[in-house]
Amino acid sequence: MGRIIAIANQKGGVGKTTTAINLSACLVEEGKKVLTIDMDPQGNTTSGLGVEKSDLENTVYELMLGECTIRKSMVQTEIENLYLIPSNVNLAGAEIELLGIDEKEYILKNEVDYIQDDFDFIIIDCPPSLNMLTINAMTTANTILVPIQCEYYALEGLSQLIHTINLVQTRLNPSLEMEGVVFTMYDARTNLSLQVVENVKSNLNTTIYKTIIPRNIRLAEAPSHGLPINLYDGKSAGAESYRLLAKEVIEREED
Ligand code: ADP
Ligand code: MG
Repeated sequence: MGRIIAIANQKGGVGKTTTAINLSACLVEEGKKVLTIDMDPQGNTTSGLGVEKSDLENTVYELMLGECTIRKSMVQTEIENLYLIPSNVNLAGAEIELLGIDEKEYILKNEVDYIQDDFDFIIIDCPPSLNMLTINAMTTANTILVPIQCEYYALEGLSQLIHTINLVQTRLNPSLEMEGVVFTMYDARTNLSLQVVENVKSNLNTTIYKTIIPRNIRLAEAPSHGLPINLYDGKSAGAESYRLLAKEVIEREED
């Protein structure tokens, strides 16, 4: 059964989408078959994986509203063994359209159950809020990976995120676990980055990934070419770090 990892943090701009795209692609490079699910109406994971988001017949939106099956919602990317359930701006309206629907916290989970065995990993990119789409991702997931940007306000909002994860654990998905924290946009030239890492380590009682993602301009450029970092600039520091992260995720899975 494929392992389902939701990448969540209600703060925007912390590296969720960058991690979803590049962790997925690097898991594929390690020989895994991967499905990436884009739960953000911005659709940046979709375009970052080279899929044109404007002319899609089926997306996460149609899937959530029961207008297509999960197999119909999937597209194969240009990368072998990497599949995507895309999203676009239509998804922004889903929250309202789901009002009053029974068991709306389980819509995604009930669909993913059909295809979980077809993949080694399913990576879900969450939107920057703790809304019903994020709850659906957490209800579906086995684990939650939290990217934390190495900046002064890194800890802000984290207690709210952890509270939400605890609520989902008690009420919706008892087997949900923390995958852990991954630090992003680390700048070795500043003391601040190092302080943030130390501060989070001493305040959070959770697994911290050894791999730290550096601030690397190539990571910011890659999405405009519709490519993950390992294919855009495989020798960059960004590519090296996401390869290491993928290896660490696989090792943890084997433990
Ligand atoms: P989120 O999905 O949490 O909102 P993104 O992954 O979209 O965050 O990242 C926010 C911005 O920062 C994007 O423009 C992205 O290209 C850039 N970015 C993300 N990670 C890095 C990094 N390690 N180095 C440089 N730029 C990054
Ligand atoms: Mg994002």
